[in-house]
Amino acid sequence: MQNLTKICEHCQQNFIITEGELALYKKVEIELPTLCNFCRIKLHLSFWMFGKFRKGKSDLSGESLITVLPEKNRYPIYTLHEWHSDKWDAMSFGQDYDPTKPFFKQLQDLQGKIPRPHQNGTKNTRCDWCDDVWNCKDSYLSRSMIDCENLFYSYRNLRVKNSIDVIVCFDSEKCFNSENCYNSYKLFYSRHSRDCIESFFLYDCRNCQNCFMCWNLRNKSYCIENVQYSREEYLEKIKSFDLGSYKSIQNHKKGFEEIIKNKVVHRLNFNFRIYNSEGDYLQDCKNCHNCFTISSSQDCFNCIRGDNEKTNIDGNGCWNAELNGNSNCCHDNYSIKYSNWSSSRYSEYVDLCIECEYCFGCVGLKKKKYCILNKQYEKNEYETLKNKIISDMKKRGEYGKFLPYSMSAGPFNFSTSFHYFPETKREDILKLGGYWEDVDESDIEGTPSSELPDDIKDVQDDITTKALICPETGWRFNIAQNELTFYRENNIPLPRYHFDVRIKDSLKYLTVLQAYPYKCFYCQKDIMAYYKPEWGYKKIACEECYKQNIA
Ligand SMILES: [Zn+2]
Ligand SMILES: [Zn+2]
Repeated sequence: MQNLTKICEHCQQNFIITEGELALYKKVEIELPTLCNFCRIKLHLSFWMFGKFRKGKSDLSGESLITVLPEKNRYPIYTLHEWHSDKWDAMSFGQDYDPTKPFFKQLQDLQGKIPRPHQNGTKNTRCDWCDDVWNCKDSYLSRSMIDCENLFYSYRNLRVKNSIDVIVCFDSEKCFNSENCYNSYKLFYSRHSRDCIESFFLYDCRNCQNCFMCWNLRNKSYCIENVQYSREEYLEKIKSFDLGSYKSIQNHKKGFEEIIKNKVVHRLNFNFRIYNSEGDYLQDCKNCHNCFTISSSQDCFNCIRGDNEKTNIDGNGCWNAELNGNSNCCHDNYSIKYSNWSSSRYSEYVDLCIECEYCFGCVGLKKKKYCILNKQYEKNEYETLKNKIISDMKKRGEYGKFLPYSMSAGPFNFSTSFHYFPETKREDILKLGGYWEDVDESDIEGTPSSELPDDIKDVQDDITTKALICPETGWRFNIAQNELTFYRENNIPLPRYHFDVRIKDSLKYLTVLQAYPYKCFYCQKDIMAYYKPEWGYKKIACEECYKQNIA
């Protein structure tokens, strides 16, 4: 086998399918892609909503609910509880296959009739204002987390407690405004650090305590800008830093960004315990190529965000998945192709299907077998009709493609995809049949956040009753009572921007999907690293030099 060059149907750029990918496509038994890797990811992640939290009503019972699904939509919304109940039957929407019409058109017609659950996740307590949360408690306006408690405005966390504005953090407590940090306590304004306590503005530090504005440090206490102080000197200096003032924090942030650019020695990537794998944010992975943010996985290609994946290709947001191809947000499955938000086996083109087997082109089914377009068939009928549809789809050039943009749950600019591809334009998505929504809230009343007191100590209790207006989006946000307590306890100034804007801002450092060529700062060797050239990082080290100099 040899590498294959193709032209992407969406962006018209050449792309290469490598020998390794070809072998895996064959093993997973899916068609070769007609889109380049980036356009595939972009399409998949557009099915993963990152909408604004809003109040709504169940289309079944009228019960009130809070959802991130758009207000203007093509499908009914039921509460999660109703969706899983027997109060409705997805099979009652079954359709006959019409060979004269494109299959995607028929599937989309069916999809438009099937309700969607208002929220994703299970086993949560008091997490109404959350989405995609699993086994969590008492959290507010947070998403994509497992085993978390008392989180505010946070995204993609695992076992984190009592924290605000934390993104992609693990096993931590009482942290604020930090990204990709592990096993830490009272860590503020920090990035890529582990095992740190009561510290501010740390970058790539490990096992540090009471440190301020430090980078690449290991096992230190009472350091400021990597300079050692005595305990007394440190505490005295910290007092003078005026951390309760918004203006002063903005200045510290600027200083921090300059340090990250000019002084930090950057690793090639943030992979941990990997074997024969490339990508970024990989942990305990073996033979995983071009993968990002996945853990405990093996023999995968082109996968983003997943856990316990085996022999998967072009799978995003998948966990406990094997022989999975060209699918999005599918978990606990085996041999699933071209599918979305499902946990099933031996099925293709299924959307929101739970514990199904041998289904083709179905939506919202639970525990079914041999169904096509939500209609029940005998095993033999199923095989015959499935083969007929595949052959028709091949003639129309449909078979092997993921679901079209028009079947996504809402506007592209309110999906996870927009985090990874923020430069995407409205017209590009509309041309591909997708959705876009410009939210104009300029008429909303509230206090511009620029009018807030600079210092947290000057904030009055009644702030929690006020609507604040974000200067970037014009969106309204509030300060919750527990949130205010946290800021006061930790001397943190009030936020000025809407929480979704803050998340988006933090995420931009964690969503790079390609490596760029650099020279090692120490040995001048050619290296590839996952940092955008426009960030202007001066010191990037090859693996050996990083180990030797930073460890
Ligand atoms: Zn492309
Ligand atoms: Zn080097």
